Amino acid sequence: MSTVASPGPLANVEQWDDFVKARYRADRKKEEFRIFDESSPQVVKDFYRENHAKQTRDFVLAKNAEYAPLNKGRMGIWDAMEKLEALVDDSDPDTDLTQMQHNLQAAEAIRKEGHPRWMVLTGFIHDLGKVLCLYGEPQWAVVGDTFPVGCAWSDKIVFPEYFAANPDSAKPELQTKLGVYRENCGMENVNLSWGHDEYLYHVTRKYLPEPAQYMIRYHSFYPGHREGAYDYLMSDHDRQMFEWVRTFNPFDLYSKSDDKPSLDKLRPYYEDLVAEFFPKQIDW
Ligand code: FE
Ligand code: FE
Repeated sequence: MSTVASPGPLANVEQWDDFVKARYRADRKKEEFRIFDESSPQVVKDFYRENHAKQTRDFVLAKNAEYAPLNKGRMGIWDAMEKLEALVDDSDPDTDLTQMQHNLQAAEAIRKEGHPRWMVLTGFIHDLGKVLCLYGEPQWAVVGDTFPVGCAWSDKIVFPEYFAANPDSAKPELQTKLGVYRENCGMENVNLSWGHDEYLYHVTRKYLPEPAQYMIRYHSFYPGHREGAYDYLMSDHDRQMFEWVRTFNPFDLYSKSDDKPSLDKLRPYYEDLVAEFFPKQIDW
């Protein structure tokens, strides 16, 4: 099992991805949803208990203020990729995928479908925000389904009952349907819980076309792109762009294949692709 080290109940941050894959496996029926939550692995429940209790609006605003200025240092896309790989613990090397293999499989699946180069690149880099682990961020601030903070939590979010422990639950002004937001104010005005999506969006936004920015920023926003919650915060433009997020999602969830793509063979293609969109070093 590949392991991205980060303090928290999960054995590694990829365990959350595995949980999401199982939750949304292609043959699963809608009715199984709650049952599946109850029978979820204890570590996943512990993870969400912590995530839902601690992702307050104040926490999210503080993390945005800390990271959005991108003053953690300069590095290239490949440096980040390698740093993430270096955190891999090969105590159990013959199971599961490394982060690099997940990135390559998603990207290769996108490429096989004939999608544009920027989308292949998006598949390749979409999880690089997990370098947040390198800054010592705990699991609950790196992975997990994301959700808006500052307004009532949708019951379409997994384990909504765990929000009872969130200090924002005692702030009535944050518990109305709209909370601090205006109806259809647009997702760019909405703060989502902090994690690898939002961070990588800030890092890469100026280099990528808008649909790619949406794919990166909202790929873990399952309540929005999968469950249709929070439509009342979205603009018409968001609704159009979320079609791209939905187009991207199956490549993230279902691109696991038996043949593990070989980085050695594919490296020249991905080096060209990265260099086409990104300078050698970017701000993180
Ligand atoms: Fe992700
Ligand atoms: Fe992913």
